[in-house]
Amino acid sequence: MNHFIEVLLPLPLERNFTYAISRSELPLLRVGMRVAVPFGKSKLYTALVVGLDTEPPTAYEAKRVYEILDEKPLVSELQLRFWKWMASYYMCTPGEVFRTAVPGILLLESETRISSEPSWDNPLSELDFSESVVLQALQHQSSLRVSEISSLVERKNALPLVNRMLKQGMIRVEETLSGGYRPKEVHFLRLHPVYQEEAALEDLLKSLVRAPKQTEVLLHLFQLQQGAKKPVKSTDLEKQTGTSRSVIKTLLDKGVLEQYTIIQDRIGNLEGQSDQELAVLNPEQNKALQEIQAFFRAPKPVLLYGVTASGKTEIYSHLIADTLKSGKQVLYLVPEIALTTQLTHRMEVLFGSRVAAFHSRQSQPERAEIWYHLQEGGEKASVILGARSALFLPFENLGLIIIDEEHENSYKQFDPAPRYHARDAAILMASYWNARVLLGSATPSVESYHNAKSGKYGLVEIHSRFGGVLLPEMELINLADSYRKKQMAGHFSHRLRDAIAETLEQKRQVILFQNRRGFSPIVECLSCGHVPGCPNCDVSLTYHQQRGQLRCHYCGFHRHLETECQACGTATLDTKGLGTEQVTTELAELFPETKTSRMDLDTTRGKHAFSRIIEAFEAREVQVLVGTQMVTKGLDFGNVGLVGIMNADTLLNYPHFRAHERCFQLLTQVAGRAGRKDFRGLVLIQTYNPYHQILKQVTTGDYEGMFREQSYEREQFKYPPEVRLIKITLRHREWNRVEEGADWFARGLRGVFGAGVLGPEYPPVSRIRNQYHKQILLKIPKGQPLGPTKNSIKRIQKSFDAISNYRSIRLVYNVDYI
Ligand code: ADP
Ligand code: ZN
Repeated sequence: MNHFIEVLLPLPLERNFTYAISRSELPLLRVGMRVAVPFGKSKLYTALVVGLDTEPPTAYEAKRVYEILDEKPLVSELQLRFWKWMASYYMCTPGEVFRTAVPGILLLESETRISSEPSWDNPLSELDFSESVVLQALQHQSSLRVSEISSLVERKNALPLVNRMLKQGMIRVEETLSGGYRPKEVHFLRLHPVYQEEAALEDLLKSLVRAPKQTEVLLHLFQLQQGAKKPVKSTDLEKQTGTSRSVIKTLLDKGVLEQYTIIQDRIGNLEGQSDQELAVLNPEQNKALQEIQAFFRAPKPVLLYGVTASGKTEIYSHLIADTLKSGKQVLYLVPEIALTTQLTHRMEVLFGSRVAAFHSRQSQPERAEIWYHLQEGGEKASVILGARSALFLPFENLGLIIIDEEHENSYKQFDPAPRYHARDAAILMASYWNARVLLGSATPSVESYHNAKSGKYGLVEIHSRFGGVLLPEMELINLADSYRKKQMAGHFSHRLRDAIAETLEQKRQVILFQNRRGFSPIVECLSCGHVPGCPNCDVSLTYHQQRGQLRCHYCGFHRHLETECQACGTATLDTKGLGTEQVTTELAELFPETKTSRMDLDTTRGKHAFSRIIEAFEAREVQVLVGTQMVTKGLDFGNVGLVGIMNADTLLNYPHFRAHERCFQLLTQVAGRAGRKDFRGLVLIQTYNPYHQILKQVTTGDYEGMFREQSYEREQFKYPPEVRLIKITLRHREWNRVEEGADWFARGLRGVFGAGVLGPEYPPVSRIRNQYHKQILLKIPKGQPLGPTKNSIKRIQKSFDAISNYRSIRLVYNVDYI
């Protein structure tokens, strides 16, 4: 007789599906295991068991589970609960959370493309029939879909086969950087044990007198072993002797040598040695640590508001050590992958191989490996340092979550769903796992500071930098004045130029901040005023000098920059505005002897690009670092004497309720990179608005003033934390349809929420990739319960979807829009 189970599919579906399973298979299953199931016409998916021995479905006939893919759960019930919360809170489906949460390599489906693994060189004769069929096919085609493999081997379900072959390293998943999940193996050579005996060895060497090459290989092996039992890699031996693989192979075939394999962990440093002690905290830091611990006992989340370079990271280290001592795991979230490089190193010297980084630049196998390590709950990888997606890892025994730079926007995921805020989700997650939470920042978000002031979070403050170093001296430079007085060299005021020269003379380094990449943001024709735009999006193209290209920063469209204007044909194209690339070019003209480097999206695409730039700057091979937002966050360089902000105005004039808060945070953070340790740094801010209130607050370090003013404005104009925001975006290829649909939806919402509905309105960029966008903003007053509010929205959506003209419009919810 059939039994039934409920499974979660990694798809945007509103509900789970029921599948049939035999009586003998049922006892093998647990909630959280993966199963291969057919879904739709003929597609195969990796699904997750969420209910055992359920009722048969009434609306459809249950299909059979093809195969059970796990022997133990991949996902815990606690994780499933967390996913469910996330789906409901952020108004998406659990399937969307599932897809985001689990590394892609553990989620094979019929559309996944498989290719051969170049390093696999074992003979086909050792394989079973299906395996050799697949490998042979992959010799002729560069990749195959799992579904194609199914038909090749004439099986309904090839997932188990593919999973097995992945695990053994015969094949790889195509979209990954470096192959399927498989522990990385290193091959070593040693003398066969029978020759351990002196006499046997002597006989062996005698028998080899006529084979000088073989003898030579053996002697080199002994030398590499250094008498002791040091493992010798076969590749090293080949290199050392300069002989070909065939000599070694002969010795292997004769049974003189034998090969053995060691699984080398990809994560952590191989030696796993921590070689540094925790820093001894100064009295102010110590007091902060004790206050944090007291709040933890309550327990309450804590906001650590400490000025830049006050030693927050050192305090985190103490808390991490404590948590590890109690045998628990730590999640250390950072807003930007760039930061994991420096921090991983800082943590590794303290905690050795217990530290593991986790982020999207890692290969899929690396990520899968960390997943399994965490589940085992051992020492290894018990401190996870990662960007927001690390939140979904299978912690067994989580004790502490640190959210560094908690004010950063990048904690909020925009696309695709779930559009979660990692800070807020982490706080919820901590309550499930019974873990402590610490938020840290030198410029807390208005929300978090509000929560701290109102007693929801514990508030701990540090007001001075470690070692008594003064916060940097800040100076505003009036650009209008400088231009009028002809005190400009390109985009550099003479004051900034001279300060750079002086800093370099003192053998100190410089950071220049410009919040735009590229050369000049736009190109304009001086004759007709035409500005080349993107054919797919409603934005101007950005000029990139290095490649002589115009590029769209939204969809990636690019074309060569012609000399003549496309509209009027005159050769009077001119560049306007300022990007990082142009700053670098002008700098090279002003300081031809100085080594500079650039850090922005364009220069940090590769896996190791960040580390290379950061390490070169740390090692002082580079004197000036020019960068976008990326240089503002949490980096700790000891030798930066000057920070220059090329133009603060774009930050001030941004049309958003958070513009001033963000401007304050960004400038304070970037300024915080100056003079962190042994001397006082200088910050120069170029602007056309030197009397702007926010700039005054930045230069005087008046966070409280900014907070008071912003809180007042948000109360007056009803923005968070006074209200909660849900942004609803409608997208479609046809402008008309978006117009009508948005009006209809907004009317529906007004019927329920009245004046809390804003819009519909066009966003600043209203067409992206040929899709028109229109937005509605819903403000939810404090006391209004969220659950029923969302249910009302869903009901309106149901009626909306019932109108055939609107059905193809995509609706996107962004809960807690920031
Ligand atoms: P934050 O995280 O608040 O920006 P950091 O923890 O990076 O500050 O500290 C700034 C610099 O001062 C770092 O180089 C750090 O190693 C050093 N430092 C901070 N506190 C101590 C301490 N108690 N002992 C030794 N060095 C410290
Ligand atoms: Zn575009």
